[in-house]
Amino acid sequence: MNSQDLLETRVSKKKMNKTSSNSSTENAKSSSKITCQFCEKELTEKTVVKHSCRLKTRMFELENFHHVKLGFQAHIKYRKLVLLKFKEMTHLDFAKSSYYKSFSEFGKYLDDIQVINLDDFMGFLVDRKIPFKKWHNPMIYEHYLKFLHKKETAEDAVVRTLKIIESWSLQTGLPQKSFFHHVDTGYFLILVRTGRFSPWVFFNAESVSEIMRRMTDEELSLMTQSVEPTYWELKFAENRNDVAIVKEVLRQYGI
Ligand SMILES: [Zn+2]
Repeated sequence: MNSQDLLETRVSKKKMNKTSSNSSTENAKSSSKITCQFCEKELTEKTVVKHSCRLKTRMFELENFHHVKLGFQAHIKYRKLVLLKFKEMTHLDFAKSSYYKSFSEFGKYLDDIQVINLDDFMGFLVDRKIPFKKWHNPMIYEHYLKFLHKKETAEDAVVRTLKIIESWSLQTGLPQKSFFHHVDTGYFLILVRTGRFSPWVFFNAESVSEIMRRMTDEELSLMTQSVEPTYWELKFAENRNDVAIVKEVLRQYGI
């Protein structure tokens, strides 16, 4: 639905009394009567465009704002996992629901952190019985990232991380193989801390020493806190075949 559709209103369907006068004047009056499809307020052709009400605003937000869409998705998952409601929910149902405001705000947070695998994150919050007021806590998201990194396969981790390198290359016009040589260290630290850059790639790329040389001591210490090197050392030792494949893929990319 686009914004034009949102302006769409339905003509009031007041039934004309068959016995009453059915003159052309009466018909003209009836067809110019417009009702807001959301709040039922009666409007005229002049006031309909400027008309605004809570539901109409929310429907507009649901169509146009990314964070509200994320909040809606999160709510759908919450309904299934916590409220055990499986019936499909429409935009209008959500706009009318008492959860709209809180989940839209949560969507803003999800958008800010660029949440990875929203459904998994919702499952993580629900499984651990984390109360809603703590969902916005960055510490919780960091725990989730560690959990996510540990359970995802090497293949998934490499695929999604290579996409980041690819988009960096497109934005900068620099070749993918020069990622660790030229990427901004502050930006890279954000990628690691927000979980968008997987340890599978970080620890197995040959050219990673290039960025390590460029990072400040503070940046290096922040990164170590996020990636848990001891955990990964053990994991790689137990999955030597996967490590060999990942190294080969990265070598082909020149990374
Ligand atoms: Zn209205």
